[in-house]
Amino acid sequence: MPTKKKATSESARQGERVKSLVIGSGPAGLSAALYTARAQLEPVVLAGPELGGQVSITHIVENYPGFPEAVGGPELTELFKKQAERFGARMLYDSATEVDFSKRPFWVKTYEKEYLADTIIVATGATPRHLEIPGETEFTGRGVSYCGTCDGFFFKDKEVVVVGGGDSAMEEGAFLTRFATQVTVVHRRDELRASAILQQRATENPKMKFIWDTALKNIQGNGAVSRVQLENLKTGKEQEFKTDGVFIFIGHTPNTQIFTAQLDTDAAGYLRVTPYMETNVPGVFAAGEVADPHFRQVVTSAGMGAAAAIQATRFLENKG
Ligand code: NAP
Repeated sequence: MPTKKKATSESARQGERVKSLVIGSGPAGLSAALYTARAQLEPVVLAGPELGGQVSITHIVENYPGFPEAVGGPELTELFKKQAERFGARMLYDSATEVDFSKRPFWVKTYEKEYLADTIIVATGATPRHLEIPGETEFTGRGVSYCGTCDGFFFKDKEVVVVGGGDSAMEEGAFLTRFATQVTVVHRRDELRASAILQQRATENPKMKFIWDTALKNIQGNGAVSRVQLENLKTGKEQEFKTDGVFIFIGHTPNTQIFTAQLDTDAAGYLRVTPYMETNVPGVFAAGEVADPHFRQVVTSAGMGAAAAIQATRFLENKG
């Protein structure tokens, strides 16, 4: 019977035995690594192809406590990593591709090998959402970007459009004014969602302009972006708008693809956790933006990572 066959292959699962496997290397993953390392769980961190989450591509972090003069995102990530490694965390530039949480030890397959882990901390973060309009995919990397810090430099003395009205759009938009001569924020409503301080900075920035109640219909160009088609959502009126770049900051989608068959998610796809960072599978914890549609700060993600690690440690102690 197929079910029996499946059970046999699952029971034969093999891999390197580890006490704690952390999946993800953003603030949540690296904080979980620090705490599990200090609890002598000898964590293995599947860092992904590159170390760090979204913070590692953030130019400057002004609201992480302990850095009154701000700290660069890549620098903060490196400090998190160094601190976790100092206590024995093992960082691997590898990603989980398949998991089986149906029994302990939990089985995790990566591009390189297989693991059997006594506890798992999922900290895979979230990915920027796409507008899904014509031209977006075609011009990604040729004028369309989701990261001002990464690509801003390419728009020196050019004009760009920023899409979105949240903190990311305001913060990245203001950053882009270092390079671009003009940053035009196109927002679908007539009111920003961003926090008061970021709104104030953006609206007072002489290089930032706003187009309200408006959506992008498509992105056009010849090899590289040269214009967008805008539609006023109140009047239905359309206009062509010349621009050299389109930066899209319209929120994120949690990176849960390989977990959704086994871990509970909310309607938006974020992993459901208890206040103790427990998922529905005892021994599997989740931390950071993959389980947090609400706060999504470096400090809250780091806190969730620490909490998940403390609970993972207690879980193993209770199991003897
Ligand atoms: P967000 O707060 O969810 O804002 C997304 C923005 O994009 C909203 O203004 C939304 O419009 C707009 N939007 C969504 N879907 C759209 C679509 N299909 N077409 C056009 N516009 C669309 O996302 P975020 O700015 O990335 O921020 C995420 C979280 O990170 C927030 O909790 C934020 O506070 C935090 N964050 C904090 C900082 C900081 O503290 N320095 C910096 C960056 C981010 P509506 O307003 O109409 O919904």
